[in-house]
Amino acid sequence: MTQTLHIVGGGMAGSEAAWQAANLGVSVVIHEMRPKVETFAHQTGNLAEMVCSNSFRSDDSEQNAVGLLHWEMRAANGLIMAAAEQHRLPAGGALAVDRDAFAEFVTAQINAHPKITVEYGEVNSLPDDGIWIFATGPLTSPALGEAIAQETGTDRLAFFDAIAPIVYADSVNMDVAWMQSRYDKGETEEEQKAYLNCPMTKDQYEAFIDALGDADKTEFHEGETAGYFDGCLPIEVMAERGRETLRFGPMKPVGLTNAHDPENKPYAVVQLRRDNKLGTLYNIVGFQTKMKYGAQAEVFKMIPGLEDAKFARLGGIHRNTFLNSPTLLDDQMRLKSKPNIRFAGQVTGVEGYVESAAMGLLAGRLAAAEILGKELTTPAGTTAMGALIHHISGGAEAKTFQPMNVNFGLFPPVEGLKGGRRGRKDRYKAYTDRAKTVFTEWLEAQS
Ligand SMILES: Cc1cc2nc3c(=O)[nH]c(=O)nc-3n(C[C@H](O)[C@H](O)[C@H](O)COP(=O)(O)OP(=O)(O)OC[C@H]3O[C@@H](n4cnc5c(N)ncnc54)[C@H](O)[C@@H]3O)c2cc1C
Repeated sequence: MTQTLHIVGGGMAGSEAAWQAANLGVSVVIHEMRPKVETFAHQTGNLAEMVCSNSFRSDDSEQNAVGLLHWEMRAANGLIMAAAEQHRLPAGGALAVDRDAFAEFVTAQINAHPKITVEYGEVNSLPDDGIWIFATGPLTSPALGEAIAQETGTDRLAFFDAIAPIVYADSVNMDVAWMQSRYDKGETEEEQKAYLNCPMTKDQYEAFIDALGDADKTEFHEGETAGYFDGCLPIEVMAERGRETLRFGPMKPVGLTNAHDPENKPYAVVQLRRDNKLGTLYNIVGFQTKMKYGAQAEVFKMIPGLEDAKFARLGGIHRNTFLNSPTLLDDQMRLKSKPNIRFAGQVTGVEGYVESAAMGLLAGRLAAAEILGKELTTPAGTTAMGALIHHISGGAEAKTFQPMNVNFGLFPPVEGLKGGRRGRKDRYKAYTDRAKTVFTEWLEAQS
C-alpha cells in the first residue's frame, strides 16, 4: 500500500494538489480548518472559496501570462480550471465565475473522489513524519504561523506584504532615467549602476505630492494595520506627514548625478531596484501604497521616465502570510530543513487565485511522484508554471522578496526578437508558443 498524502488547507492550492495526486492513484487526506475555525475573509465552509473578486483574470493564452497559466492548468486536467469553465460568467476576455457555484462544484468533486477524504480541523504544527503539503494561504491560522516561524526563523515568515509597484525594465524611458547606485557604491560596475533613477524638478515633485493626497485609497481591514506600520509606511501616509517627508525618505536626491543633465541637481529622485535575476523587472524603492490600482497607474506615470511604464504588478499592503521561499524551499517545493513537508499556494509567495492553484497543481504532482517512487522535475522556466516556481525558489531577490503574480518579465527572453513596445505582440506570442510546446512535453513525459 502506498503512503497517504496529507494536505493542510483546502483552498485553491490544496484542492488542486489533492485532485492531481489522487488522479495519479495516491490516497489523500485534506485537513481544512473551516468552518470550525474561521478567517476574516472566508464566508463559507466550502473548499476553494474565492475571498474577494470572482475573476481568474485574462483567459487569453496567446498574449497574457495568466491566460497561459490557465492553458497549462487545463492541459494538466486541473480541477480549478474545470470548475471555472463549468460556472463561467460573461466577462469579455476575462474568466469570471459564479463564486458559490464554483466552490460548491470543487467541494462536490473532491468529496466524490474515491481517493480523497476531507477532515475538518486545524493543524497547528509541522509533523516530522509522513508526506505533507501545507497550502494554508495568506490567512494561515495564527497557531500554525507560529509553528512555521519557529521552524524557519521569524525573519523568514512575513505576516504582511508591502508591495512596491513593479515595472518592466524595457518600458522605462532611458532618455530620462539613468543607471546609478547612490554614491556609486559597489565594487563592480554592475553594482555601481544597480539602480534606475528618475529625476524630478521642484514643480514635478509638488504636483506629485498633491496627486498622492488626492488619489483614491483602499481602507484597511480590521486588525490589518497591526505590526506593519513601523517598517513600511505607505508613501501617501508619509506624504501626509509633511510635504518634504518623501524628499528626505525614499525620494531623497543625494549621492546621485543625472547622467543626462549633470549640471542640474534633481529636486527629488525616484529609484527603481532590480527585482529578478533576469533584470527584466524593477520595483520602485519604498513605494508600498494603499492607493487603488487605477489611481496608482495615473500617479506613477507622473514620474519622469515612467510616463509609458508598463506595470508587472501594482503596489499594495495586505494581511498575507508568506515564506521567504527563495531561501527556504528547494526546487521540489520542499522545506529544506524538513523535506517531508512541501508548501504550495499563496503562502509560497505567489499572488492570486490562479497562481496559487497552479502551485498546488505542481506540489500535488511532485508529492505523488515521490510517493510512487517516480522522478519528476518541475517544468522549465520557459513555461508559466516553471517561470513562477523558478522565481520563488531562487530567481527572486531573497532580501526584497514579496508576493508575485505571473507575468512575462519572469520568462527568459526569446532570442532574436525585437525589444520595446513595438515588438511586444510578437514577443508575447513567441513566449506562449514556446511555453505550450515545452509544457506539453513535460506532461507527455509523465504519462
Ligand atoms: C482579503 C483578501 C482578498 C483577496 N482578494 C483576491 C482577489 O480578488 N483575487 C485573487 O486572485 N486573489 C485574492 N486574494 C489572494 C487569495 O487569497 C489567493 O489568491 C488564494 O485564495 C490563495 O489560495 P491558497 O490556496 O494559497 O489559499 P486559500 O484559498 O486561502 O486556502 C487556504 C486554506 O487553508 C485553510 N487553513 C489555514 N490555516 C489552516 C490550518 N492551520 N489548518 C487547516 N486549515 C487551514 C483556510 O481555511 C483555507 O481554506 C485575496 C486574499 C485576501 C486575504
